Amino acid sequence: MHSKNIPRKATLFSFFSTLIFLTTIGCSSSVDHGVSNSAPASPIEILDVDLGDKAWGLNLLKVCMKNTDAHQRTLKLHIGAGKRRGDSGLGFGMGGDYVIEPHENRCVEYWYWLPPGHGTVDAIVALTDMTGQEVDSKPLPFFTEEYQLEFNIPNSHCNDLTITKKLPRFKKFYKEELKNLKPFEYFTTKHFVIYASPDTPAYMDIKNIISQRELAIERICDLANVTPSGTIILFFYPDMETKKMCTMHTGHGLARGNTIAEVYNDQVKLDPYHELTHIVMGQIGDPPALFNEGFATYISERFGAYSLKNLGGGESSIYQRVRELKSKNEWIPLDELITYQEIGSKQSRPQVAYPQAAFFVKYLIDTYGEDKFFQAYKQLLNSDNKQVQKKNVEKLKNVYGKPLSELEKQWETIF
Ligand SMILES: [Zn+2]
Repeated sequence: MHSKNIPRKATLFSFFSTLIFLTTIGCSSSVDHGVSNSAPASPIEILDVDLGDKAWGLNLLKVCMKNTDAHQRTLKLHIGAGKRRGDSGLGFGMGGDYVIEPHENRCVEYWYWLPPGHGTVDAIVALTDMTGQEVDSKPLPFFTEEYQLEFNIPNSHCNDLTITKKLPRFKKFYKEELKNLKPFEYFTTKHFVIYASPDTPAYMDIKNIISQRELAIERICDLANVTPSGTIILFFYPDMETKKMCTMHTGHGLARGNTIAEVYNDQVKLDPYHELTHIVMGQIGDPPALFNEGFATYISERFGAYSLKNLGGGESSIYQRVRELKSKNEWIPLDELITYQEIGSKQSRPQVAYPQAAFFVKYLIDTYGEDKFFQAYKQLLNSDNKQVQKKNVEKLKNVYGKPLSELEKQWETIF
């Protein structure tokens, strides 16, 4: 439920070779002309490049050109992202092939799609002359131009987000036909900027959502003794497929940096605490998943939500679930669980690891208090490095005055 890096679906990414992504509001401006020195010559003269609205979602790229040659030319038009890819880092590369007749003066149009996110995105438009080239050859483009797109918070610059409407070749990446996702509208509150698309369940329930989230952040910050830094961004999607379209992440919830993306519909409503806890606690430390996921899951229950509802535990309490798992001998020893960098992947056994981590956190807080827990949260580091993991166990011992094995033994006596 928490991801620093977007799990990249191999199928999607093999297709989206390069990229564009977009964030921000507002407007973008064209910057440096990056025609490289080694660009091959072409009889095609570029007259104008227009990136269209440069908004989140679908945009129309228009390139006007003149064929100064007495022969037909075959061109490949590509739009993709450069170095800066906004805060989501998503990349999209897309383009099409065009034939320009001898001495023809022509504008070609191509729909491209920018996923929602904030920050600066470099969009690169390239034209490659494929005339007489082998199908699988990759000649250098004869024309390359980079544009800077900026999306500030909040962003009102959004078009229709349904990628398959204008780019039907993307249909194969979705199980069902994508629901129409109209341009996002935004709602600003004390701590959040919330994006939802008209006619979706979240949009219709926005007042409720706002009051719940504001209450949640006050409670989490109060408990952790943290002042929230900066605005938190919330994106709501009506289903997993539209969320996947915009984030390339499968699953119901995603927290990354200061941004949360969630599915919200009649069947799926995430509790308002879990992802928010990840964001707030990012100000305190970056501990292993035992503490990071354990605390986020614990917090949901502490503030009255069914913390395991979307984590395979239904409406059981953390305690009930852990007892059930232990009785079935479905268990991860703590010296192993403390080395996990994430919980959620198949190999992390999320249905066992989430409740177990949450219950260990609850035990530490109930038995030794919040201060010691936050000390440990600050000091332990999330890492795959064995030395760091070994140090984590030592640091834990220093904070609690006893080794992990002893904490585990004591803990196991209560269930
Ligand atoms: Zn999580």
